[in-house]
Amino acid sequence: MDQIQIFTDYLRQQGLKNTSQRMVILEVFLNSNLHYSTEELYLKLRKSHPRIGYATVHRTLKLLAECGLASELNFGDGQTRYEPCRGGQHHDHLVCTRCGKIIEFVEPRIEKLQEEVAERYGFKIMSHRHELYGLCSDCSVASES
Ligand SMILES: [Zn+2]
Ligand SMILES: [Zn+2]
Repeated sequence: MDQIQIFTDYLRQQGLKNTSQRMVILEVFLNSNLHYSTEELYLKLRKSHPRIGYATVHRTLKLLAECGLASELNFGDGQTRYEPCRGGQHHDHLVCTRCGKIIEFVEPRIEKLQEEVAERYGFKIMSHRHELYGLCSDCSVASES
């Protein structure tokens, strides 16, 4: 089942209308590889679709998270961010605390090690999140000079 279908079904279950604005938001969101806050996505959409309001973007992102098409991220800056769920493809994040850049990484050794830790405690991992905070390469160069 494709993502548009999943979303359309979910809206119907909730008794909500599938508006063209929601479809635009869905499309822009799914085709991005960014970690948008509501504000950022709203500002991006506003350029091409000035009639889409902030509240609609906010509500639609919430709905996308509820039906499993988006995951909510919180990097401690008080903003909820959203990224598209790419079926089964897990990744973790490096977060620059100066410029806000978010870098994605996948490290099989870390994944494997945490399985081993869980096993040691008879623990079953359902999901996990790694966020490493610091300075990205640009910012750490800037802070040295
Ligand atoms: Zn940075
Ligand atoms: Zn990510």
